Amino acid sequence: MKVLELIILSICICTIVSCGPKKLTPATVIVYEGALAGDGDVTYPSAQKVVEKCVQAKICMGLGGFDYPLPEIRGMSGGNAVKCGDSLKEGCYSADGFITVVQGGDTDIISHECVHHWLYQNTGDLDPLHESQYFLSCGGALSITEDSN
Ligand SMILES: [Zn+2]
Repeated sequence: MKVLELIILSICICTIVSCGPKKLTPATVIVYEGALAGDGDVTYPSAQKVVEKCVQAKICMGLGGFDYPLPEIRGMSGGNAVKCGDSLKEGCYSADGFITVVQGGDTDIISHECVHHWLYQNTGDLDPLHESQYFLSCGGALSITEDSN
């Protein structure tokens, strides 16, 4: 009995440890595309929270006094990741001013993508390699590993 319990425990631990990053599947359907706060006629459920996160990131970066435009947003469904260049990511910021995210995803990704946006507005460089300290200090709880963009 003792041995059996040990075996079961071992299997459980192995399963937990080997449970790596979740498999990413591309979201392909655009459910919303436009202004971050919604554009009057069309909006999305988390619009208010998303704007709040993005403005918080701007203030955190010391850019609150600058009259930079908010990014636009593209919400996708049909998968748990978005295409970003050649890879699949939780979110993506592109120099055309769009944040692309999966609908219903964690809003921490918004803080991260907004750091890219505000850096781009402020310096002309969206910092794809995450060299700026602001990704850690203002970009939310998201880790800046290969998972994020
Ligand atoms: Zn990033």
